[in-house]
Amino acid sequence: MVDKQTASFMRSLCMGRIEEDIILPFPALTTSEKETLEGVITTLSQMLGPHEGDFRSWDRKGEFPPEFVNELKEAGLFSFVIPEEHGGLAFGSKAYSRALQEVARYDASVAVTVGAHSSIGMRGLLLFGTEAQRSRYYPKLATGEMIAAFCLTEPGSGSDAASIKTTAVREGDSWVLNGSKIWITNGGMADFFTVFAKTGDPKERKGVSAFIVTRDMPGVTSGPHEDKMGIRASSTTTVSFDNVRVPAENLLGDEGKGFKVAMAILNSGRTGLGGGSVGGMKKLISLATAQANQRVQFGKPIRDFGLVKQKVGQMIIDCYAAEATVTMVAELVDAGYEDYQVEAAISKVFASEALNRTADEALQIAAGNGFMCEFPYERLVRDSRINRIFEGTNEILRLFIALTAMNDAGQSLREIAKSLEGVFNDPIKGFGVISEYAMRRAAMATGIGREGTTFTRLDPALKAAQGVFEDSTRDLAAATDRILRKHGRAIIDKQFATKRLADIMIDLFVLACVLSRVDGAIRKGGANAAARELDIANAFAGQVRRRVRNTVSEIDDNQDEWVKALADHAFERERYSWDTL
Ligand SMILES: Cc1cc2nc3c(=O)[nH]c(=O)nc-3n(C[C@H](O)[C@H](O)[C@H](O)COP(=O)(O)OP(=O)(O)OC[C@H]3O[C@@H](n4cnc5c(N)ncnc54)[C@H](O)[C@@H]3O)c2cc1C
Repeated sequence: MVDKQTASFMRSLCMGRIEEDIILPFPALTTSEKETLEGVITTLSQMLGPHEGDFRSWDRKGEFPPEFVNELKEAGLFSFVIPEEHGGLAFGSKAYSRALQEVARYDASVAVTVGAHSSIGMRGLLLFGTEAQRSRYYPKLATGEMIAAFCLTEPGSGSDAASIKTTAVREGDSWVLNGSKIWITNGGMADFFTVFAKTGDPKERKGVSAFIVTRDMPGVTSGPHEDKMGIRASSTTTVSFDNVRVPAENLLGDEGKGFKVAMAILNSGRTGLGGGSVGGMKKLISLATAQANQRVQFGKPIRDFGLVKQKVGQMIIDCYAAEATVTMVAELVDAGYEDYQVEAAISKVFASEALNRTADEALQIAAGNGFMCEFPYERLVRDSRINRIFEGTNEILRLFIALTAMNDAGQSLREIAKSLEGVFNDPIKGFGVISEYAMRRAAMATGIGREGTTFTRLDPALKAAQGVFEDSTRDLAAATDRILRKHGRAIIDKQFATKRLADIMIDLFVLACVLSRVDGAIRKGGANAAARELDIANAFAGQVRRRVRNTVSEIDDNQDEWVKALADHAFERERYSWDTL
């Protein structure tokens, strides 16, 4: 029986154990979720469909007209995750992610506006709000009378969120907030702000608390819309707090635990960004395949050329794998798993990068047309780029993914060291831990004879792809071990090595999700019906095998020191140093 409080597929995998019960069978939506979603899809096509032509002009203008935002409110797009009794659709993570996917097929700026409200703006209320806070704000948030925003980033504090300078000082029954936030999505039209401020010593990195702030509180202001590269029609502004008196009952979560609140919000909201990325990919695939069918060169439609097929085939693999991963993470949330941060971070990194690849290649298939603003490709490329930056940059998330795994493995190694000490006092206990570790290492090395080191429930049609997964799992365990032994505590500063481990982990979790999804498809309709999906599993597994082998070989055989020296050389001069003149 899996313990949902502590179980994590990836954390177990890094210790050499495949917890197949966590990811099998592949999750499905409930009948009632399907029915509600079908209603949402119809509403979206009636409401957003007629605006297809407007999205381009609103992108150029850099904002939505207020009447369109009112249409979004009336269509219920701000009510997705709010409980039914407060006027919402009560979507769980799977249904929410699927709904955002559908919104993103029309326009990324709309998806970001709706997503920032439900994924991060009001999610703190959903996760940490008191009953009084919820009943007060949910009804207005559900109708869109209040749109929500998440205010963490400041001019001097981006990835390093603990360094925020906004302060909240307790005065009687209020907190007095002072500070400025930048690049806040929905900043220009939100009335409900989840704000992070220092309540401890402002010079220290701890003591952050979260607050519910509303626009009607004197001292709250927002700046003009930022002129951005992409998602241009979505509102991004500064939000400032000048001696804002926030009632004590608007503290969100515990005092001093705001950093935990922020991370929980971002983790829980990741399936929104993932769903949006999948929606973007599906739209791009429709555009690129239609274009490849229509465009004739050298007397043939360009779809006949291998290099065009290669791009489209890869788009399909990327989209299917991203969808499988995002759906799986959403299921972990819905099923009540508490430790899913690593899997959620993986889904964000993979989906955002898959969307970027897909957008870039779709534009390349359209080529000259792709570069022209008359066609949607250039807008989709611009819109897709933000996903690698916000809600945690992909670099920071890679560090988080790998360092979590190494922390676990480090603990295990420390336990071995500790139990060696214990051998003399308590030989049975000591040898127990050692032999457990030795058996796991041996099982990892041989891949046989130990429960939990193989999949047992996948359909036999997946044997080859399953084999790749199990081999690569052994590579992952060996890589973690090698990197830790090589760098020890210094690993925190060895980012080249850390990224390698993260890349292996990302590939393995995504492959596990693909295996689970294809297994589900075979069970539902048989191997013949799932033939194309088996192609995806085999193709993706082959790509994973090659990447993992390559990455593992780079642990000891790499060019890191030269690359670092070149970067340092460039930083010193702030330019490229060579010329042929
Ligand atoms: C359109 C848009 C909307 C946004 N919406 C919101 C919002 O609603 N609410 C909100 O609070 N914020 C929002 N943000 C801010 C966003 O979350 C930040 O931009 C993001 O967290 C990165 O911070 P930064 O831009 O300051 O980059 P920095 O933290 O300065 O990073 C710069 C570069 O250095 C890398 N880097 C930084 N630290 C490390 C490290 N330790 N190791 C290795 N590499 C590192 C980063 O990966 C990046 O490549 C938004 C930003 C944009 C552009």
